[in-house]
Amino acid sequence: MTITGARVYRGSLPLATPFVTALRRVDDALFVILELHTDSGHTAYGSAPETKAITGETLESIEAALRQHILPVLLGRPFAFETLLHAVTVSLPGNSSAKAAADMALYALAAQEQNLPLYHYLGAEEPAPVTTAVTVSLGTPETMRIKAAELFRNGYGTLKVKVGGGDGLDAHRIREIAKALPDAQLLVDANQAWSLEESLAFIEACSDLPLALIEQPVPAADLEALRQITERSPFPILADEAVFDAEDARRVLDKGAADLVNIKLMKCGGLSGALAILDVCRSFGVQCMLGSMLEGPVSIAAALHLAAAHPDRFEWIDLDSPLLYRTLPADLPFTIQGNSYVL
Ligand SMILES: [Mg+2]
Repeated sequence: MTITGARVYRGSLPLATPFVTALRRVDDALFVILELHTDSGHTAYGSAPETKAITGETLESIEAALRQHILPVLLGRPFAFETLLHAVTVSLPGNSSAKAAADMALYALAAQEQNLPLYHYLGAEEPAPVTTAVTVSLGTPETMRIKAAELFRNGYGTLKVKVGGGDGLDAHRIREIAKALPDAQLLVDANQAWSLEESLAFIEACSDLPLALIEQPVPAADLEALRQITERSPFPILADEAVFDAEDARRVLDKGAADLVNIKLMKCGGLSGALAILDVCRSFGVQCMLGSMLEGPVSIAAALHLAAAHPDRFEWIDLDSPLLYRTLPADLPFTIQGNSYVL
């Protein structure tokens, strides 16, 4: 099998309501799609969204990385899977989302070559349904409480609540939601917005609440602050922006700077990078979240296959983009049943 052709093009899906975090506001899921063709008649897809605020990549940069650096190391090459994965990794520095698009397309081809669904290729006999958290965007405490209650009523029991409003009201936001929804599991995500002092003040103010975890309270680079918070917090601390790849995971866990790690295909360059982080986390006995950016269906599907293959390693799943689309595309590569996905 040889990769003989490729197409790179854009996709977009409008969101039902804007997605707002401490870092950005998004109205449409915008992404690049990579299509690979082989001389054996196989076609495989990869995809990567624009996430300038996190990986520094735009649609333009993802397209350029694919066309100018990544596809030249794939086209016309015989399909030696590990060799091609490595060629993508070293094709240029950074550009983890562009690499993720290529990586997941290569995994799709590897699975197709063996006539297996991807989850099976990754080690699962049967795909278990994958239950996801859903995001409550940053807003006023009142609008967030109303939105959280609406989601909970609609069957979403695990809520990823975005904080970092910069208005001193974050603890109030969470207390209001926790009071209204005592049975919801609340994952609090500050997206790096707090200082060490603000983080500790939040924890103090919410210490009587049953919060499931606090995600990336402080800037990614400040591992010492993250370590102190982890040491003092009664709630598990989840590293997100502080961990892009396996090397970061090792550094953070070596330092005791987090209790959990949020793996996202776009941060770590795809499934191979995610499996490498899983290995590191397993060696530390640390559980993971499988997260996502605001992504299109192709890359969410790749993450779902990974989740289905490693149900024991992912304590939390945060793949809620498809739940946020205004309308579902007809060719969705999975089905949605309430807050669960079925491959
Ligand atoms: Mg996060």
